[in-house]
Amino acid sequence: MRYPDTAVFFRKLHWDYPRITHGKGSWLYDEAGNAYLDGCGGAFVSNLGHGVAEIGQAMAAQAAKLGYVSGMTLTHDAVEEFARELVALAPGDLDKVYPLSSGSDAVEAALKLARQYWAELGMPSKQRIVALTPAYHGNTLLALSASAREHYKSLYHGWLVEVLRAPAYDGDALEAVIARDHASIAAFILEPIGGSSTGALVPPEGYLRHARDLCRQHDVLFIADEILVGAGRTGTWSAVDSEGVVPDLQILGKGIAGGFAPLAAVLAPRRIVDVFAAGSGALNHAQTFSHHAVSCAAGTATLRYIATHGLVDRCARMGATLHKSLAALGRLPHVGAVRGRGLLAGVELLADVETRRPFPRAEHVAESLTRAALDAGLIVWPNIGHVNGTEGDLVMLAPPYVVSEDEIDQIVARLSAAIQETVRA
Ligand code: PLP
Repeated sequence: MRYPDTAVFFRKLHWDYPRITHGKGSWLYDEAGNAYLDGCGGAFVSNLGHGVAEIGQAMAAQAAKLGYVSGMTLTHDAVEEFARELVALAPGDLDKVYPLSSGSDAVEAALKLARQYWAELGMPSKQRIVALTPAYHGNTLLALSASAREHYKSLYHGWLVEVLRAPAYDGDALEAVIARDHASIAAFILEPIGGSSTGALVPPEGYLRHARDLCRQHDVLFIADEILVGAGRTGTWSAVDSEGVVPDLQILGKGIAGGFAPLAAVLAPRRIVDVFAAGSGALNHAQTFSHHAVSCAAGTATLRYIATHGLVDRCARMGATLHKSLAALGRLPHVGAVRGRGLLAGVELLADVETRRPFPRAEHVAESLTRAALDAGLIVWPNIGHVNGTEGDLVMLAPPYVVSEDEIDQIVARLSAAIQETVRA
């Protein structure tokens, strides 16, 4: 299907969209009977795979009983159960959950929460945000301000707020920024393992602990944006678990309801929420669909499915298989790096691997590779701009946690063929 042939305002207006009718496990099927291996869970979302009847049944049962009430005045079993089961998995003292409906929404809520927290404590001048370059935290204007992805931002300069920046995973640079400006800083937000912004860059061992200590020392809230890398994706429930770090706020989204419903969440410890309880009495972030009953039911069913099927351990195991198999791609011409952790991987393409020169943006290498992979029956996630905001081509993999070894072989073989077709030596 293609714009303008249907009533849909498609995300891309120059793209031929296969029309998908259904999915099962790691596979999607279109109306013509073609099968596609979902190598990136859509947008790092379908962690359980497709067509999981239990989740649909839990959502239908909840919708039949109670679809929606406003979180302003009423609560219900669905949100109570979801919050209770999510905090049981959360790091350290994070024991309160504010459910929302998209990652960007949750990032906005967390950043506003940080500013309001210091205002409630009588320190309204602590209001600036520190974030990394590259980084991606969402597409609404505050989340976009915190992001460092120029191609998304360039049109909106003037609408975006100024954010202090440090290069991704450079502890000394972060220390310099926080030590200099801590009196005006409310929060530091980071992806504890890079998602689409850096192409699955893993910080050097010790970086997260260092950043955590800096924030504690200088009264800056440490916000872990785990929208992409949380909920088991990197082989532990939380990405910060790899260094035993406990953030002040954690943000989850994407896969926490397996893609069956839009759901995100901000997790906070009681010591922070109590400040609001003793002060104004509410977080100033009003959303009609927060605490949504059917979304929360999808979330709880997803958490239970992950636990019953041991999917976080499976993700760690299959992740090791994926990375072993992907290592062979590193020997192809133009492959600059293959990295990541668990079932998350980034494959970087360079015009010249020795000098690390990226392809000119006009060649649209990541997009062409994504199309070549799709035509070969493999869905991957394209990513551009990690080198300097404009240039840089990556494709990302994030298959469902139920992916089999045979499917991993097929993902790697199809990607390898698509790379060789797109960027010939
Ligand atoms: N934060 C990170 C790390 C993300 O990867 C994303 C989406 O890709 C977001 C925030 C924004 O989430 P959403 O697209 O659900 O608004």
